[in-house]
Amino acid sequence: MNAYIESVIKNVEKKHSAQPEFVQTVREVLSSLSPVMDAHPEYEAADLLNRMVEPDRTFSFRVVWIDDQGKPHTNTGYRCQFNGAIGPYKGGLRFHPTVNESVMKFLGFEQTFKNALTGLPLGGGKGGADFDPSGKSDREIMNFCQSYMSALYRFIGPDCDVPAGDIGVGMREIGYLYGQYRRLKGVWENGVLTGKGLTYGGSILRPEATGYGAIYYLQEVLAHEGEDIQGKTIAVSGFGNVAWGICKKAMQLGAKVVTLSGPDGYIYDPDGVATEEKVNYMLEMRSSGRNRVQDYADKFGCQFFPGEKPWGCKVDVIMPAATQNDVLMASAEKIVANGIKYYIEVANMPTSNEALEYMMAQPNMIVAPSKAVNAGGVGVSAMEMSQNSERLAWTAEEVDERLHAMMKEIHRASVECAEEYGLGYNLVAGANIAGFKKVATAMMEQGII
Ligand code: GLU
Repeated sequence: MNAYIESVIKNVEKKHSAQPEFVQTVREVLSSLSPVMDAHPEYEAADLLNRMVEPDRTFSFRVVWIDDQGKPHTNTGYRCQFNGAIGPYKGGLRFHPTVNESVMKFLGFEQTFKNALTGLPLGGGKGGADFDPSGKSDREIMNFCQSYMSALYRFIGPDCDVPAGDIGVGMREIGYLYGQYRRLKGVWENGVLTGKGLTYGGSILRPEATGYGAIYYLQEVLAHEGEDIQGKTIAVSGFGNVAWGICKKAMQLGAKVVTLSGPDGYIYDPDGVATEEKVNYMLEMRSSGRNRVQDYADKFGCQFFPGEKPWGCKVDVIMPAATQNDVLMASAEKIVANGIKYYIEVANMPTSNEALEYMMAQPNMIVAPSKAVNAGGVGVSAMEMSQNSERLAWTAEEVDERLHAMMKEIHRASVECAEEYGLGYNLVAGANIAGFKKVATAMMEQGII
């Protein structure tokens, strides 16, 4: 590995030993960049990498909310404005008990490269809170969102930082967050948030965008291998918004998603989550707040495996779409033993470094990285921002066409970058290099700041 990269990774490991997720993502991204650093000594001269692994700023704040019994609760809210070199900070808000500074920074770092890959002018950021929305009433959710926004509103804006949804934050939460922002600011600045409802500036297809984009990307990979998506079986983890979009698009294209998972285990549906009724039921499961995938098995009479992950299933394609570190070494070994060719990450950093390296080293496996595969979500968010600033709304056909073209371009640019550095069809390195190059060039041109 390039010596400068090694020294930066060491610095990060030493300085942030209490932030394992952040260290993990830095290691994954930087270790792809050796050939680029070798070819560009000016980056080291400008100490570009040490500057890149330090967020522009990360802050936390108190969020107090009152439950339905009148009892106050205190949570920690965060926003990490990681890199603003190519555009306003952009990235979702995650409400989940696992949220902490390490998780925020790993997501903000990933987001910086992902957003660059979309080809659109978006910096990288992420935020959230260690709040657990499961089992909360609608009024409690509204109360939490209002309190959260009261603390955050002065630090965001359509040309400064544009949050969106992520785990635990969907259209309902974005609505409450936007309502409070508007009340506090007293202006119509709906470009401050994306993932909004259609009546106040949301983009058509934004809820589907991440899942649709992931399937469009998969189609590019399959085409590269001379294969078609029709008839393919897919194991998916999670049952949220992203998994829902995957199921919907897979169904339209004649592929079958045969697993879904939740914190309680996974379901196996050999017929596929491939009818309107089944796909729509996923939305009901999510909005119930129960956070249980077993409901699906109970309703449609298929098998449920409590406490297990779906990675031992024999399928054509694996798509982890739940959360970080969903696929560790033991699961990777099962995937390899089953001879599965396509490992397509969808959630942010779903694979441990060790498991990722192991699968990438398999000569007959193709591994695609989440920062490319899931970029359709933030890409359509950028389209939502454009529509808001132009005060108009595109049709579903227009958005879908742009999303499809964007996913093709992300795949093409990744392939081109990997080839430029003699790495073959390495989609992981290609995406890291393509995202890095854009941010690096902007940072170099803007001077040492
Ligand atoms: N949370 C999503 C992501 O990980 C979407 C971010 C956005 O639309 O800004 O990319």
